[in-house]
Amino acid sequence: MAGTLYLVPTPIGNLGDLSQRIVDTLAQADFIAAEDTRVTLKLLSHLNLRKPLLSYHRHNTDTAGPSILERLRGGETCALVTDAGTPAISDPGEDLVARCAAEGIEVIALPGPCALVTALAVSGLPTGRFTFEGFLPMNRKNRRARLDALRDEIRTMVFYEAPHKLNATLRDLAETFGPERRISLCRELTKLHEEVVRLTLGEAVERFRETPPRGEFVLVVAGAAPKPREEPDMDEGLERVERLREEEGLSLRDAVRRVAKELRLSRNALYELAVSSGSED
Ligand code: SAM
Repeated sequence: MAGTLYLVPTPIGNLGDLSQRIVDTLAQADFIAAEDTRVTLKLLSHLNLRKPLLSYHRHNTDTAGPSILERLRGGETCALVTDAGTPAISDPGEDLVARCAAEGIEVIALPGPCALVTALAVSGLPTGRFTFEGFLPMNRKNRRARLDALRDEIRTMVFYEAPHKLNATLRDLAETFGPERRISLCRELTKLHEEVVRLTLGEAVERFRETPPRGEFVLVVAGAAPKPREEPDMDEGLERVERLREEEGLSLRDAVRRVAKELRLSRNALYELAVSSGSED
């Protein structure tokens, strides 16, 4: 029988966030696939665990992926970890999970540290509906194109960003969404210097222009204000009435009844307008 792939989250800065289940799963796995084996060795040594490790990162998914799959098919249990946070969320792992799913190999995801969820929860912005955008493209043109596509997004948006690109990204965000849009910059979450700065995009550009940012960031940006629904006007109603009569041969009264209901217009006003424009029952 095939083994199981466990997706094992690891702390994003605070070792106290290791759960008993995370520790037990690492201890019981036949082997661990790690994004950076040096980082994972430190974690294992903190837990007094010695385990066979193999390297699985975004540059070797095509070679390491099939060999992990082979071992899973042979009945072994693999714990997949990344440097920090939940594997497969802007991290290697997505591809491996897809391969397992395609073959019917069991995948079990453990809940645990994840920068996205931690930042969203603390952001102070609406959390009911959000979109996770991960890292924006490196190339400026592609980055602008991605942001342009989000111009009318009304859900809260969550971005990952590296500190050396933060200033450029804040400028692009401010240009796309306007300087008044709210942003929560969630920095060094769960670490000693954890900080959540809630301001506007314009203020964020100013603040970090002078002081280069340090540490890891998640950017949580408020969505656009929903556009007011355009009221259908009487002219549109009249056009539809005429079209309905032509195409379906409806009487004026029936056509008006149907259009007024669909467009939520006053039936009497639409009827009078149709009559005064020459329509007859
Ligand atoms: N899979 C990970 C997760 O679920 O949290 C995310 C990995 S992604 C390669 C790394 C990005 O996560 C960083 O560039 C940063 O945007 C964010 N991040 C990770 N740890 C963080 C922390 N302690 N505070 C703020 N952001 C963090």
